[in-house]
Amino acid sequence: MSSNPRHILSISGGKDSTALAIFMKQNYPEIEMEYVFCDTGEELPETYEYLEKIETYLGKKVTHLRSDLSWDEWLEKFSGYLPSARSRWCTSNLKIIPFEKFVGDSEVISYIGIRADENREGYISTKTNITARYPFKEHGINKEDVMQILHDSGLGVPAYYEWRTRSGCYFCFFQRKYEWLGLKERHPELFEKAKKYETINADGSAQNFTWVQNTTLDEIVKYPEKIRKNHKKFETRVKEKKKKSSTRLLDVFSDELDFEDALSMEDDSEGCLVCHI
Ligand code: SF4
Repeated sequence: MSSNPRHILSISGGKDSTALAIFMKQNYPEIEMEYVFCDTGEELPETYEYLEKIETYLGKKVTHLRSDLSWDEWLEKFSGYLPSARSRWCTSNLKIIPFEKFVGDSEVISYIGIRADENREGYISTKTNITARYPFKEHGINKEDVMQILHDSGLGVPAYYEWRTRSGCYFCFFQRKYEWLGLKERHPELFEKAKKYETINADGSAQNFTWVQNTTLDEIVKYPEKIRKNHKKFETRVKEKKKKSSTRLLDVFSDELDFEDALSMEDDSEGCLVCHI
């Protein structure tokens, strides 16, 4: 590692990477940080608005990194085959490669917002000139601390947190039923756009080219009351569990934390470590 590496913090538009940017500015003001956002061009409007607020707070530009090809051009290259958890061609082509191009051959310390209460590593580059650093792990910062950092900064959580907790593309296949319903209700035009990418049989059943295996978006949101009822049930269970546990609970953000935990009960997959941190 050179004695004068570049310092790069990749902001996903999610709560953890945003809190990390705030934390680094407050605790390591001497570090000349470069902020980047790997932009697929298909992010939520709330994410772009949140990024503007982050820039104002940091007093620095967040550089948007884009692939040479658009989402639609990549999809064409993959013969219309939508990405999935098992075949995640979108993350590598629209996020990782643009990031690695931006880094080039420079020696870089890449700051990653994985928290102390998480047992995962995030995006580890295979490039030997990129070294990962985990300040939240070094400082024992957990989920409640992250919420506190966001609250104290005045930034709070991104607006999409009212109906979904993960950052990333509006059509991300990692979304849970409640989040697909949220997309339909908050951004009906984006929901319709997501639907257009699906290839379905004449009788409306799913083919191989759908966001969720063996079903269509219309099927997923067919019974909105049932989805809402299930979500409420999960939230009540989370609240009851927390009442019994002795962990410290941040009153000011308990609703957001309950919401996130309730969504995890529907589907506890971690999502994408590059897109959703
Ligand atoms: S947010 Fe989801 S769809 Fe978008 S690049 Fe990441 S994994 Fe792919």
